[in-house]
Amino acid sequence: MNGDYLQVVDADALDRRICELGASISEDYAGRNPVLVGVLKGCVPFLPDLIRCIEEPHEVDFLLLTRFGSKGRVAVSMDTAISLEGRHVLLVEDIVDTGLTLSALRRNLEVRRPASLNTVALLDKVPRRIVDVPLEYRGFEIGDEFLLGYGLDWDGRYRNLPGLWAVMDMERLHDLHETLPDVVFPGSDGVDAPQ
Ligand code: 5GP
Repeated sequence: MNGDYLQVVDADALDRRICELGASISEDYAGRNPVLVGVLKGCVPFLPDLIRCIEEPHEVDFLLLTRFGSKGRVAVSMDTAISLEGRHVLLVEDIVDTGLTLSALRRNLEVRRPASLNTVALLDKVPRRIVDVPLEYRGFEIGDEFLLGYGLDWDGRYRNLPGLWAVMDMERLHDLHETLPDVVFPGSDGVDAPQ
């Protein structure tokens, strides 16, 4: 085991917890035909795995956010195809950290007058919260370590890592490509980025 990285949640634990979330959502949204709005790109693969555990009818849509500045300002750079007015909207997020992104996104969506607006986040970084934002469903409560895998990226990469990995030494982020694959994919010669 390379001490620079630590697996904090493995693939089996993710599967189990996501199915528990799906069961709660199925129960709470029965007969309401919610729209699950995945916040790209971190909602992949969480959203596809989640909806496989939701038994009630629902629709799926996506939006893409662009962040700018340091104060959590966001713009919707790709919007949903479905109108959200009058709909029961469930946002699907990878992680809530300071809460600034979710708070800005909620303000953007509230003006569209959804019938309800809730959020499911796979991860809740409780100690880092700056703004008090509602979070109705969360998979795991975590500390303030920087995580990779299962949709969480560094510079656009490593979303494909199986399970969730904490980077213990942030100095290693720049040479992650050389060292991380050996740890998460033992026996491989590394995972090369496309040229
Ligand atoms: P917030 O506005 O809540 O501070 O930030 C949310 C965004 O920060 C997430 O959607 C994600 O892009 C990024 N983020 C926060 N914590 C982590 C982390 O531990 N790992 C990675 N890869 N991204 C994170």
